[in-house]
Amino acid sequence: MLLYREVIERLDPDAVQFGTKVTGYERAAAGVRVALSNGEVIPARILIGADGIHSKVRGRYARMMPPSTGGGMILWRGTLRTKPLRTGSSFVGLGTHQLGMVIYPISPPDADRNALINWITEITVDNQEGWQQDGWFREVPFESFAHYFDSFKYDWLNVPDMLAQADCASENPMIDRDPVPTWVDGPVALLGDAAYAMYPRGSNGAG
Ligand SMILES: Cc1cc2nc3c(=O)[nH]c(=O)nc-3n(C[C@H](O)[C@H](O)[C@H](O)COP(=O)(O)OP(=O)(O)OC[C@H]3O[C@@H](n4cnc5c(N)ncnc54)[C@H](O)[C@@H]3O)c2cc1C
Repeated sequence: MLLYREVIERLDPDAVQFGTKVTGYERAAAGVRVALSNGEVIPARILIGADGIHSKVRGRYARMMPPSTGGGMILWRGTLRTKPLRTGSSFVGLGTHQLGMVIYPISPPDADRNALINWITEITVDNQEGWQQDGWFREVPFESFAHYFDSFKYDWLNVPDMLAQADCASENPMIDRDPVPTWVDGPVALLGDAAYAMYPRGSNGAG
């Protein structure tokens, strides 16, 4: 929203077009012609493709391989409202890369001192056959993964109990893309995940 407000203030309220997507582009003598899903074709001097890991702009000039699930990491994420751990704003990391978990609050505490807590559990599996499930962000039942964390019990935290109270769980395989030789095609350039998607961990993705 910060970016959106800046753009309409500096350019024009009509500078942002909703409800349509870039489907491709053609290079033209004076720049580029950008095709939209509503059938419009917009002439432009430059095109920056910042359209994420499934980028249509990248797909126009780079051979699009399926997203890679490389290392076999699967994450399950969810939230629950409860008392934050330790200092009240602590980030807690448990286990190993093979079997681990992180937990941290994502809201200030309310009057009852409960906060919205984000948890992420992770396992690494043999991934020779790639990702066989549908989608990258599926809601799944707790029984499908909670048992991996049965031993995560401490005098200050009981992970099985915590997972049992959570609102929902979504399953994410860690995905990235193989590098492309260039991020630039004349007046067209890629930015962000469209150009150089990385595993979303350790804040390297958004960074
Ligand atoms: C579940 C999950 C957890 C993550 N956790 C972390 C984390 O903890 N730390 C971290 O650093 N990173 C994390 N990431 C990665 C991070 O979200 C990305 O690296 C980052 O959002 C990439 O920014 P971006 O602007 O390049 O692309 P995006 O944020 O994907 O934005 C792309 C935009 O383009 C739009 N778009 C897509 N296609 C089109 C089209 N054809 N035409 C027009 N618009 C289009 C989309 O609607 C979207 O608004 C996570 C990602 C996921 C999925």
